[in-house]
Amino acid sequence: MSFKKLLDMRPENIRAKLGTKSKICLINGRDIFENIRDEKVIIMACNTRIKHVIHGIMKAAMETDSLVAFELAKSESDLKGGYTGMTPQDYFDVIVEYADEIGYDRPFIIHGDHLTVKTNKEEDIKSTEEVIAEQLKVGYTCYALDASFNEEEDNIAITSRMAKPIVEMGFGLETEVGEIKSVGSSGEITTVEEAKTFVEGLMDNGINPHLLGINNGSKHGNYLEGEEISIDLERTGECYEAVKKYGVCIAQHGITGTPLHLVGRFADYGIRKGNVGTEWQNIAHRNLPDDLMAEMKNWASEAGKDLKFATKQFLNEINGIPEKYKKAIEDESRKTAIEFFEAFRAVGSAKMLAEKV
Ligand SMILES: [Zn+2]
Repeated sequence: MSFKKLLDMRPENIRAKLGTKSKICLINGRDIFENIRDEKVIIMACNTRIKHVIHGIMKAAMETDSLVAFELAKSESDLKGGYTGMTPQDYFDVIVEYADEIGYDRPFIIHGDHLTVKTNKEEDIKSTEEVIAEQLKVGYTCYALDASFNEEEDNIAITSRMAKPIVEMGFGLETEVGEIKSVGSSGEITTVEEAKTFVEGLMDNGINPHLLGINNGSKHGNYLEGEEISIDLERTGECYEAVKKYGVCIAQHGITGTPLHLVGRFADYGIRKGNVGTEWQNIAHRNLPDDLMAEMKNWASEAGKDLKFATKQFLNEINGIPEKYKKAIEDESRKTAIEFFEAFRAVGSAKMLAEKV
């Protein structure tokens, strides 16, 4: 299978960055999501907070011929590095470097996850706009704007404003209505009316998103012991039916911990993108040297913070682990990614896209 046409379709700024000879198939998120609307596949989006999981995911994508997204949220990666210690430029560079190292030739995207604006204050909006501007500059090809903490009217206004430069450059766009909760907290799930009003509000402002993230009961992070996993697929399907006519599909957040047999059915309810974040962190943590892991846990408990925040604190140690630990992380990531691609019905999706464009 040749990906020549997709290589030719790479955005101009990406081709300029990669160089004319590069076969790295970093494509526009729009080209994926506009072409898979009617296909019951889910694109896995991986928040690779610890870089050692990237090779495993890329190898799995090649072996199963799957499309994939590499993504970090603003909290994970901002101009100062976020809690992963990686700036958007660092993240772009590491993805490209790793792709080069293993001759990764399948189409993929780099996505800005949760570009969050928690209030309607100008300084909050500006700080996220700065991250977007940087991601546009360094070569991200898809963006998730998240003003869902705000009242719907403000969410529409803020999202429309932030979407402008992305839409002008023609990149993929995800938006969010109904805040997706963290584990251990609960919230109202998104209604059909909310989803419809939100998308129509954006459309009135000339913004037509490709994806809509909703709160359907899933949660971010590792579920607590005994915490119930409840994802309302019926409601998800109803929201999808309400926005489908605008070419909008559903993005599912917080998949870590969801049984894989359930994940497979997501595609039947209009879900076309599935975010997996904490799973990769768990894999990395399981395979880090014991003494380093103990130090990280100790730091987190003394700081009273979630373990994820130890990533930046111990970045040099994590990046510098001996080869055998890196290999163990890669192997487990590869194996898990294959299971996810299969459950997501994404096997063969790279070829499918190449034939469709
Ligand atoms: Zn999310």
